[in-house]
Formats: sequence, C-alpha cells, structure tokens
Amino acid sequence: MRIKIAGHDHEILGFDQEHRPNLMGRYEPDNNIIRIKEGMALSAKKETLTHEALHAMLTHSGVSVDEDGKVEMEEVVVAVASGLFQLGLSEVLWNQQEDK
Ligand SMILES: [Zn+2]
Repeated sequence: MRIKIAGHDHEILGFDQEHRPNLMGRYEPDNNIIRIKEGMALSAKKETLTHEALHAMLTHSGVSVDEDGKVEMEEVVVAVASGLFQLGLSEVLWNQQEDK
C-alpha cells in the first residue's frame, strides 16, 4: 500500500517486532517507509498509521527543535494542519460541522 504524505509517496509495510513488543509502528525517513505491526486490531492499525503519518508530515515540513528539544507550538500547528489538509482529513472535519 502507498499513500502520499506532504506530497511524497510513502510505502506502508508490516513488521513483526518481537524484541520491542510495545512498538506499534515505525517511520523510516531515509526511504519513506511506514511500518505497522502485524496482528493488531484494525482500529489500532489505523491509529498507528495516523501516528506515523504525523511523524512523516512533521519531518517533511522541517519543524525545528531547539537545544532543549522543544518545538514552537505554532510551527507544529502549521505543519500538522497543512499535512492533515493534504491527507484529505479537512473534508472529514468540515463535513462533521456541516452535519450539525
Ligand atoms: Zn512516535
């Protein structure tokens, strides 16, 4: 499976991570691969894909980190909003408020 995040193709693959059982997913920025743990419930896979897509989105947007490891809230919001829009999730949000 492939999805476009921030204009870049990303390949979605599985993995079977026995030595780190709590790891549900992984983003590999060097080759634009997202890995999602096998054998989880579909809802957990969907949440993990969202989590890893956010890692990819923020990496591609170049959000900067200061020496304390902190990032500017506005930078994060701009990057996440732009990324969610590009993923088509703004439509979901917009339609929710139109239904009310
Ligand atoms: Zn993470």
